[in-house]
Amino acid sequence: MKIQDQIKEYIANQPEPKRTDIKVLHKRILQILPKCRLWFLDGKDAKGKIVLPTWCDSHTHLVYAGNREQEFVDRINGLSYEEIANRGGGILNSAKKLNETSEEEIYNQSKLRLEEIMQQGTGAVEIKSGYGLTVEGELKMLRVIKRLKENYPIEIKATFLGAHAFPMEYKENHSAYIDLIINEMLPKIASENLADYIDAFLETGYFSVEETIKIMEAGKKYGLEPKIHVNQFTAIDGIKACVENGALSVDHLEIVTDEDIEVLKNSKTMPVALPSCSYFISIPYTPARKMMNAGLPLALATDYNPGTTPSGNMNFVVATACIKMKMTPEEAINAATINGAYAMGISETHGSITKGKKANLIITKPINSYYQLPYAFGTNLIDKVMIEGKFI
Ligand SMILES: [Zn+2]
Repeated sequence: MKIQDQIKEYIANQPEPKRTDIKVLHKRILQILPKCRLWFLDGKDAKGKIVLPTWCDSHTHLVYAGNREQEFVDRINGLSYEEIANRGGGILNSAKKLNETSEEEIYNQSKLRLEEIMQQGTGAVEIKSGYGLTVEGELKMLRVIKRLKENYPIEIKATFLGAHAFPMEYKENHSAYIDLIINEMLPKIASENLADYIDAFLETGYFSVEETIKIMEAGKKYGLEPKIHVNQFTAIDGIKACVENGALSVDHLEIVTDEDIEVLKNSKTMPVALPSCSYFISIPYTPARKMMNAGLPLALATDYNPGTTPSGNMNFVVATACIKMKMTPEEAINAATINGAYAMGISETHGSITKGKKANLIITKPINSYYQLPYAFGTNLIDKVMIEGKFI
């Protein structure tokens, strides 16, 4: 169908008095911009292309040094995530590499990842520190994120994740490392204005509920709202602590109890699922249907990181949410755009196509309907990406 016919049909299908308003508005737009072709969220142009808002990826660790392909092969050969971590792999392996790499080199590696996800339709991204685990290492990561913010049009939010893991030398002295985070790292980060949010890995064997509460409270004193890794492997009442401390989001949620769902209801905390991580390390998927049926919203993000999700592709996340978590294409697209925007505090400006928001658009290749995006998983169906009004 031609775009003009489609516009006519669209207008004809609207209820009165909206129909008259749209006719007037359409006429006015054509007077000002005679060549204008109106796009509708569910519409196509004459070639069959559709327009969507860009993805809002509210959870990544895309600033890192090197990669962990060897651990990938170790896992194929039968080692678990915990066994690899106990052998000095995992987060501590990335921390060692990061501390040995210059800020310039980390920037150069990270900007390639950022450029790649922009091409894949991401128009806003949150990036965490957490591979430094030393004062200098954490500051180095956050400075790299700041430089990316300055040099790219994509919206970037920075999260301080000093509480990602306990460094080897603090394994038997947790309180000393938490003191380092609170009394050394946080004041420096705040004085350089390097972070928007604070995070911790609240998990059995990592940061306990009590330790995470201390970190959240300290972060809030510097104006950093919590966004917390929780319920990836075990449910230990961490979600309750996060909600009570005003967390903007709780992320991972592969294991969710009925009590957790009750706590999240009527809270301002957005649950965030990371299906690429479940896919890559073969752990359960977030029970999206159960949560949504209980009336909860859900956001989708990549968790782009070198160990458990070496992919920042939101198209794959949307497809996996439909295929494995039984979300409908509408629910998954919504979760990856407007709900993702909420989970990184930018829903006023990002996440949907509407007056007053950033002109951040994905224009697809000719497709039958947006159902094809998750259906044809693995196929790149994006023709062009516009960020802040400019095609990239
Ligand atoms: Zn993560």
